[in-house]
Amino acid sequence: MAVRYLDQTLINQIAAGEVIERPASAIKELVENSIDAGATRVDVMVRDGGRTLISITDNGSGMVRDDLLLCVERHATSKIPDGDLFNIRTLGFRGEALPSIGSVSRLTITTKKDQGEAWQLNVEGGAKGTPQPASSPKGTRVEVRDLFYATPARLKFLKSPTTELNHITDIIYRQALANADVEFTLRHDDRSIINFTSGTDRFDGILGKDFRANALTVDFQREDSRLTGWISIPTYNRSNSSDQYLFVNGRPVKDKLFATALKVAYQDVLAGNRYPCVSLFLECSPEDVDINVHPAKAEVRFRDPNLMRGFIIAGIREALKGMASRTSTHLSDKALMAFDSTLAPAAPFGSPTFSKGNYGDFQPQPQSQVPPQPKLSMPARSSYTPLGESRSSYMAPRPSIVAQTTAAVAEFTKAEQPHHDHPLGYAKAQVHETYIVAETTDALVLVDQHAAHERLVYERMKHDLGSGMIKAQALLIPTVIELTIMQFKVLQDVLPDLNKYGFQIESFGDQGIVVREVPSLLNKCDIKQLMLDLASEILERETATAVEVALHEILADKACKNSIRAGRRLNLDEMNALLREMEKTPLSNQCNHGRPTFIKLSKADMEKLFERA
Ligand code: ADP
Ligand code: MG
Repeated sequence: MAVRYLDQTLINQIAAGEVIERPASAIKELVENSIDAGATRVDVMVRDGGRTLISITDNGSGMVRDDLLLCVERHATSKIPDGDLFNIRTLGFRGEALPSIGSVSRLTITTKKDQGEAWQLNVEGGAKGTPQPASSPKGTRVEVRDLFYATPARLKFLKSPTTELNHITDIIYRQALANADVEFTLRHDDRSIINFTSGTDRFDGILGKDFRANALTVDFQREDSRLTGWISIPTYNRSNSSDQYLFVNGRPVKDKLFATALKVAYQDVLAGNRYPCVSLFLECSPEDVDINVHPAKAEVRFRDPNLMRGFIIAGIREALKGMASRTSTHLSDKALMAFDSTLAPAAPFGSPTFSKGNYGDFQPQPQSQVPPQPKLSMPARSSYTPLGESRSSYMAPRPSIVAQTTAAVAEFTKAEQPHHDHPLGYAKAQVHETYIVAETTDALVLVDQHAAHERLVYERMKHDLGSGMIKAQALLIPTVIELTIMQFKVLQDVLPDLNKYGFQIESFGDQGIVVREVPSLLNKCDIKQLMLDLASEILERETATAVEVALHEILADKACKNSIRAGRRLNLDEMNALLREMEKTPLSNQCNHGRPTFIKLSKADMEKLFERA
């Protein structure tokens, strides 16, 4: 067959294949157009998950007749005024959404600019009609009927109306977060799904009512880049990334760079398969980011990805550092629900007496300031009887108390203990040789001794490793490791970094390395496996911090093995020493896997539990 040009409709349908994957992608394009047109209100209406009808009405600039005729033509746009692809400040710029949609559906655009006349234009399966006079308020309404009727193969890929509606909702959520001053509504089959008009809190609607109480503010600036928004504290997490809302210069993105940055920033405090909830806005110079990478513009490319990734990680870590002794409020909620079920096994879920609403309105723990530590004056009297020496190796600094708890029973001391306003209070007892029970002036604190100690050990090891305090240990027999060319290349690049951490590694032959010394912390590791893991880690993440990430992962594992086990008896001194150490240690409110190390139950919560309040 001879070579020939494709006809316009076919070209548009091919483009539609890339840009318009499902109803939600059409809606994304159309809502972006409304925002680019300066709309302050966008009303979206769909039927059958968008399959039979999508209608989007805005109060933006509208179009005159000539523009209406042109806007459905391929590569026609009003949005690159100076022809500079690297200075785009609108959401659209490719001029292909309307012709693409018009080529696969029955498209009707009704529009009116200012005081001019209103016009209506139909495009059916790529065939353009002529503009007809219409009546319409200022702005634009775009209706898309029978999406993909002209490309039946695509129609078969559509999922159930519910699934399609979920995608649509997600698109509008992202636009609504990015454009806080624009009102959005969504109706599906005559039912109102989203109503972000003035006076409603879209943030609560999108991320959940308890998000803000469990979130930290991010505001980080360096040169002309700025990162702002909210990130959840680590104990408030999800099993997937759907609650991560990310924006670059006001444009919602789903970008790998952001995803890795979040992973790395949280890796110390969250298990690898859990995801924080975030709403993060990155503002940077348009010259530093290329948005023309992907037809749907969901991905972006940064001029200097390492720099940008480092910047985002630094911003998030900065915010995480700001959190002192906080665990998420929903944990005490959870604890209460547990009480709930034991208290009222017969009560149906949500019954008026025991429903969560009765005591569900907890305040977040205020970020506690660790006060300067006063000298501990231990009580002279204690109702405990010593039960013999503790086997714990956790060293307590003050020997004044020899009181010990009975093994498996929570027995509260009647002695008056000084509280000293320690955020984690004063240890009262150990129960089940696993949990420390402590009391503050206004709350009961339960600490998981293993999780807490693991965190302390990890933080100490990390500190030692980072500050070069770890001794290098020569291997009895240097280990030679043969690598693939890729592995060799990436490890070669990080050898100086590794040597800083106490390794001594040289290249060996044209594709191998020889390891002579390792940090003594790691001397029992399988060195070969360690190096191979490191190489694949760096290959996968392409980050400059991969060495640190990989080493920290190994340390976390070691910390877990080296910390006080559940089942070990502690005396009060040891328990208090552990509590004081936790207060001093950053991020000690969760273990290395993002589980909480302690739970606080306020006096008010307890009063509600016992229905005293
Ligand atoms: P792009 O948005 O990339 O320019 P589109 O095909 O989405 O390409 O739109 C083509 C042009 O139609 C836009 O540049 C804009 O001038 C005009 N347009 C589209 N939608 C609207 C709208 N809702 N209000 C006003 N003008 C619009
Ligand atoms: Mg557009």
